[in-house]
Amino acid sequence: MKRILVVEDEPAIREMIRFALQKAGLQCEEAGDAEQALLAVAASPPDLVVLDWMLPGMSGVELARRLRREETTAQLPIILLTARVEENDRVHGLEAGADDYVTKPFSPRELIARINAVLRRTRGGDEEQSIEYEGLLLDPVGHRVESDGRSLELAPTEFRLLQFFMSHPDRVYSREQLLDHVWGRGIFVEERTVDVHIRRLRKALAGPGYDRFIQTVRGAGYRFSTRS
Ligand code: CA
Repeated sequence: MKRILVVEDEPAIREMIRFALQKAGLQCEEAGDAEQALLAVAASPPDLVVLDWMLPGMSGVELARRLRREETTAQLPIILLTARVEENDRVHGLEAGADDYVTKPFSPRELIARINAVLRRTRGGDEEQSIEYEGLLLDPVGHRVESDGRSLELAPTEFRLLQFFMSHPDRVYSREQLLDHVWGRGIFVEERTVDVHIRRLRKALAGPGYDRFIQTVRGAGYRFSTRS
């Protein structure tokens, strides 16, 4: 059974979420603030965190950043609950590392649908599985990238970059984070090197039009997304 940690200071909302999770066959753990959440995560990492933006003390966004920074929790899926609807806040939340967000007020059914979607797409671990988005196929075992059966030529770094992006869609990564994940921690490479490889990757994908999946997020970094 998947374990979901709900971090929310309002007991009524927590209860509503717990009820919905249990009904959906998900196990619910609760924390009333970021500090409690950190303790719960350290004790036993959940499969996903539902995190309220507005918390007393450390905010949900700060907590999301913190979880992303720690190696042991960097991949932990996070859904941010927010009462804010402005585009800026949405970008801010996704930049902080949230995988998705749900705007309050929300229906339990909507939240469960989001949770299931995030669990599906972040179900990591199986690094041998081919990944496909709208006809763009990456085969990690054969080290091949194909578009509708036709092979695309990618240099090794571009391949690794694309593999990382396709395994972590819809999330913004800074140049520094991409260096850590794709080149490896402790390797000294200048940040603008990332831009060079992004450019090459886009060029390699441009023929069939998949360069649009590699998106620049101004002031933040890059993301892979099929949505524009
Ligand atoms: Ca709150």
